Amino acid sequence: MPSHVITLPNGITMPTLGQGTWFMGESSLAKKDEVAALQRGIDLGMTLIDTAEMYASGGAEKVTGEAIAGRRDKVFLVSKVLPGNASRRGTIAAFERSLKRMNTDYIDLYLLHWRGGYGLDETFEAMERLLADGKIRAYGVSNFDLDDMQEAVQYDNGNICVNQVLYNLASRGIEWDLMPWMKKRNIAVMAYSPLYQTRLLKSQGLKRVAQELSITPAQLALAWLLHQGTVPIPKTSSVKRVEENRKAWDIVLDAPVLAELDSIFPPPDHKMPLDVL
Ligand code: NAP
Repeated sequence: MPSHVITLPNGITMPTLGQGTWFMGESSLAKKDEVAALQRGIDLGMTLIDTAEMYASGGAEKVTGEAIAGRRDKVFLVSKVLPGNASRRGTIAAFERSLKRMNTDYIDLYLLHWRGGYGLDETFEAMERLLADGKIRAYGVSNFDLDDMQEAVQYDNGNICVNQVLYNLASRGIEWDLMPWMKKRNIAVMAYSPLYQTRLLKSQGLKRVAQELSITPAQLALAWLLHQGTVPIPKTSSVKRVEENRKAWDIVLDAPVLAELDSIFPPPDHKMPLDVL
């Protein structure tokens, strides 16, 4: 059975299946369903919630704040600073705004959303400060390709724990060089858009294999990411779909199934640039 937690380079543990929040917080009508879905996920053990100051301009963090109210201690909270805010002082100020929106006093994992104009030394100095002050438990990056990672580890005191990147069956480029490099350093791959924002679910091949296994295409896509040792963070605003996605944790894929998936979605045979949405 896929493990439910992994240990990060700094020794803290993180759930291996989480919940995304992009596009949450955009409409007041949808809020009730969004909060209910996140809470159901927490109750089912998908306690990692991934959000960002960018999503709905803080709206997703507010929805997250509502969802975790009264159960903060059960949740592994992830948020991200926008590159335009990622200066020494700007990172801290953005962080404090995120805390307010989520009505909490710490974030488990804080990420730089993507590389921007500020030097990584500046951003990481702020991250180190937050770490030293006990306001975050770990930090990391997002949308970093291998060359960015190689540069990043010059400034991080060995503290980068996660790189959150686009990774799913239909987009496997990171397997060529980024993923092996990260694996060697025990830096976790958090897989965003694990369902390729539903595009993947339309694949006839995926549907066929899922049917053979009597599971849903979403469950197969997530189970494969778990098998790869990554941390998928599917987003759904539906309680029913959270329940469906949670079952991916109970699925073991055997060698013939993995081979069939490789033939439908071939792994890379050359360096590919990091995929982004
Ligand atoms: P995703 O999780 O691949 O797909 C989300 C879509 O799939 C939603 O439309 C959702 O619809 C649907 N869905 C979820 N479960 C389903 C199921 N079991 N069956 C059918 N449809 C299902 O895409 P994503 O939101 O882009 O990625 C996940 C999270 O990663 C984001 O929410 C965000 O937290 C993070 N992310 C980070 C970055 C970054 O730059 N770091 C970029 C993109 C995403 P319903 O809500 O209607 O169920």
